[in-house]
Amino acid sequence: MIEFRSVTYAFDDVPVLEDVSLTIGDGEFVVLAGANGSGKTTLLRHCNGLVTPDSGTVLVDGTPVTEDLVAARSSVGMVFQHPRDQFVAATVGADVAFGPENLGLERAEIDRRVADALEAVNMAGREDERIDHLSGGEQSRVAIAGALAMAPTHLVLDEPFTGLDDPARRSVLSRLEALSEDGTGILLATHDLRDVLDLADRVVAMRDGAVAIDDSPDRALEALSDFEVRVPER
Ligand code: ADP
Repeated sequence: MIEFRSVTYAFDDVPVLEDVSLTIGDGEFVVLAGANGSGKTTLLRHCNGLVTPDSGTVLVDGTPVTEDLVAARSSVGMVFQHPRDQFVAATVGADVAFGPENLGLERAEIDRRVADALEAVNMAGREDERIDHLSGGEQSRVAIAGALAMAPTHLVLDEPFTGLDDPARRSVLSRLEALSEDGTGILLATHDLRDVLDLADRVVAMRDGAVAIDDSPDRALEALSDFEVRVPER
């Protein structure tokens, strides 16, 4: 479980998060919506200690992130908005394998995880390709595969669909759905709610650094018309 308790954060004295309380249970699929600048990225970066609260606490499985960064970073997989910042190797396979290698897994298990994660993002068999030769959408998919290959307890994704075409987006979404059914907690920030609301257990919408909506997808959808998000046509 990831838990935000009354988290407040300011950047240069400008409030970015104001008294945010939020829980993502094990196996729960939570969509984080909100306009640009509403605080989504800053909130997500608290989940593994990249940003620390000015006041309040973020707990991962009951332990404050600030008390045990190593534990938080091994159980929370993060997919950032700009995948370029996330790569550690030159080729697709080496990059996706990096995390599992650091877990000390056996080679066969690492190879299996890499193949499986690449398949989930429609990149099967492309281990040997150079990352800097890929399109932006392909790079996003490699970044997602890197997080999937770690098999984290919680997965936090910041606008992971940028540059993805519809089939790739749906493929990633169906993998996220399967992971959440298997018990992985998912926190997905996106301004594009097409195909997403049917999978989500809850929708949290931010406005000006505060949680404005925390509700079931159906009820949230009505209130979301006031937000700058792309909602499904019904
Ligand atoms: P979102 O992800 O919803 O677009 P962000 O968390 O990126 O929102 O930003 C929330 C607010 O915090 C914005 O007003 C943004 O300008 C400010 N902010 C966050 N991080 C920084 C930073 N490193 N430098 C300057 N402003 C920042």
